[in-house]
Amino acid sequence: MFIGLGFGVIYLVWGFLEPENMQLEGFWFWLLSRTFAAGVIHYSIAKIFGPTLFGRGWCGWTCWTAAVLDLLPWKRSPGRKKNWGILRYTHFALSTILVFVLVFVFNYTLSTTRGIVDFTGTYSGEHLKSSLFQIHEFWWFLIGNLIYFTLAIVLAALLKDNRAFCKYICPIAPIMKLGTRASIMKISVDSEICIQCRACERACPMDIKILDYSAKGSRVTSTECIQCLECVNVCPTSAIKATYKFDIGFKEYLKVQEAN
Ligand code: SF4
Ligand code: SF4
Repeated sequence: MFIGLGFGVIYLVWGFLEPENMQLEGFWFWLLSRTFAAGVIHYSIAKIFGPTLFGRGWCGWTCWTAAVLDLLPWKRSPGRKKNWGILRYTHFALSTILVFVLVFVFNYTLSTTRGIVDFTGTYSGEHLKSSLFQIHEFWWFLIGNLIYFTLAIVLAALLKDNRAFCKYICPIAPIMKLGTRASIMKISVDSEICIQCRACERACPMDIKILDYSAKGSRVTSTECIQCLECVNVCPTSAIKATYKFDIGFKEYLKVQEAN
C-alpha cells in the first residue's frame, strides 16, 4: 500500500502513476470532497469498521510506520509515560483542523490539485499533470510520512520503546479505539492452565496488564491491544490465545511508569 497507492506505483499497470495520500489529512480531504477515494476506502476497512471485527490488527500487522519500528531493538517496553497519551488526541485535532481550515477558509481541495503522471502519452484526463512534483497528494504523502518515520524513530530511541509513537503520537489510534471496544477478536487467557509467570505481560509491546483482565474473568478488552500475538507466542503453557465472540469493556489496565 505504501509504495503501490502512496506513490501510485500500482497504476503503472495502466501506464501512469497516480499517488494517493492515505494519511489522516488525505482521508479528510477526500471525505469533504465527497469522493470515495483510496484514503476513504482504506480508513473504512482498516480503521473505522474493521476494528469491530479484528480490533487494532492494522497496528499489529500492516502499519508501514510500525513495520520500520519493529526493526528497532527496543522491543521490551519500559511502561507508559503517564498522561502522554493525550498527545495523540491533540495530533488528531490539529490535523483535522488544518484540513477543515484549508478547505473551508482557503477553498483548497485535493480534487483540483491531484494528478496523473502519464508514461504512455495516451492519457487525456482532466487532471493530467506533467510532473510528479506538481501533484499535491504526492507531497502530502511524502512529507507526512517523512515526519512520521523521523518522529517515530527518534521517540523510540529516546524512550527505549519501539512502539512509543503508537502510544503517544499516532493520530489514527483515537479513531480505531472506537470500534476496537466491540471487537469480536480479542485475547483471552485460560486461567485453568495459566501458571501466572507473566511472560505474556513482559512481552506485550503495548504495556497491557493481561492478567488483570483474566483475574476479572474478562477477555483483554483494552483498546490498546494491537493483536500482535506476542503474548500468545511466549506463553509456555499455551494458556493464551485469540478468541472470537461478542463482548465489550471499558477498563484500561496498563503498565504505567512510576514518576521520578
Ligand atoms: S495483549 Fe497480546 S496481542 Fe495484545 S498487544 Fe499485548 S502482546 Fe499484543
Ligand atoms: S504467559 Fe501464559 S502462563 Fe504465563 S502468565 Fe501469561 S497466560 Fe499465564
